Amino acid sequence: MHYPASRLPQIGTTIFTVMSRMASEYGAINLSQGFPDFNGPQALLERVGYHIARGANQYPPMPGVPSLLAAIADKVERHYGRSLNPETEITVTSGATEALFDAISSMVFPGDEVILFDPAYDSYAPAIELNGGRPVSIQLKPPLFPMDWDQVRAAITPRTRLIIFNSPHNPTGAVRDADDIEQLIRLVAGTDILLLADDVYEHMVFDGRQHHSFASHEVLFERSFVVSSFGKTYHTTGWKVGYCIAPPALTTEFRKIHQYVTFTTPTPLQLALADYLQQAPQHGFELAGFYQQKRDHFCEAMQASRFRFTPSAGTYFQLMDYSAISEQPDTAFCEYLTKTVGVAAIPVSVFCHQPPDMRLVRFCFAKSDQTLLQAAEKLCAI
Ligand code: PMP
Ligand code: GLN
Repeated sequence: MHYPASRLPQIGTTIFTVMSRMASEYGAINLSQGFPDFNGPQALLERVGYHIARGANQYPPMPGVPSLLAAIADKVERHYGRSLNPETEITVTSGATEALFDAISSMVFPGDEVILFDPAYDSYAPAIELNGGRPVSIQLKPPLFPMDWDQVRAAITPRTRLIIFNSPHNPTGAVRDADDIEQLIRLVAGTDILLLADDVYEHMVFDGRQHHSFASHEVLFERSFVVSSFGKTYHTTGWKVGYCIAPPALTTEFRKIHQYVTFTTPTPLQLALADYLQQAPQHGFELAGFYQQKRDHFCEAMQASRFRFTPSAGTYFQLMDYSAISEQPDTAFCEYLTKTVGVAAIPVSVFCHQPPDMRLVRFCFAKSDQTLLQAAEKLCAI
């Protein structure tokens, strides 16, 4: 028996699985894969049991349960001032990962080019390649990883189908500002270039910054898929519930893929989230303060270390430069941190098409204050 060649020959197991497995094997504090070590709101958790006991255990409608679609529409109106039609512009998905895959699969034709910004979240490029597209990577530069709009303009060709935007940005924590939005509007106006906004960290922006959703700008929204994740916002990453908003013509194509990738997402989780969104509309506005406090706690505890850093502008990640400690490449350094120091982190080079000239690791600070202190104590000792 001969198996066919790999559809993704360059791809191994995702770094999140590799590092979390190593953390568990060596008993290290896991600041690698991004997930909280605390629970979501009790009232939300209880609603899941409530709906299961009431018998909400069969398939929900393919685009999502009506109460959750309505709650998402309310949320988008509340935060970004756009009134959406839940029937034609919102789809609930099994996490943002599914939404990203569906959006890319619905729009990328063989030979199309898709612009990405490196370091880029690791699910984008494989989804593009599986659809016969070509990722075109633009390198963002440390330490602050700003957009270089001249470089973006220069990367555009007649084959450019899509640009994937991610703000707040994983893994760097960079947040795009109003000027970036203006530049993007100017760049795409009058073209047929589509946009995919990965907004999973939309509510984690610090120090008075604002998240600029494409939903607030007509020129952008008419060509956009905007993706988010309840996993990040409600501390429930294991539930894998996300959604995509897009204008009706794009949503129609998006749902053609969604209906055959997963068809739908567990009913009791959708119903519980719908109840909680309605019950606690302030949650999204309070999350930034909650995570800013965690960022400050971690950064303060790390002041005594030999790592160098600028506090993150958004997300629940903090990049740290270890060049004063070691000359090892970041993958080897993360292995050392996990196995010897007892703290797991993510190497940044794995998010880059070309190995970057930097020594940076990513720590997740979505952890209890005690966990962050314990980790910092170990990291300050090296
Ligand atoms: N995009 C980014 C930038 C992420 O960090 C993540 C990680 N959780 C996802 C998408 C995937 O989100 P989900 O867990 O909802 O699939
Ligand atoms: N988004 C999370 C991170 O960046 C991990 C998600 C996953 O494990 N697939 O760490």
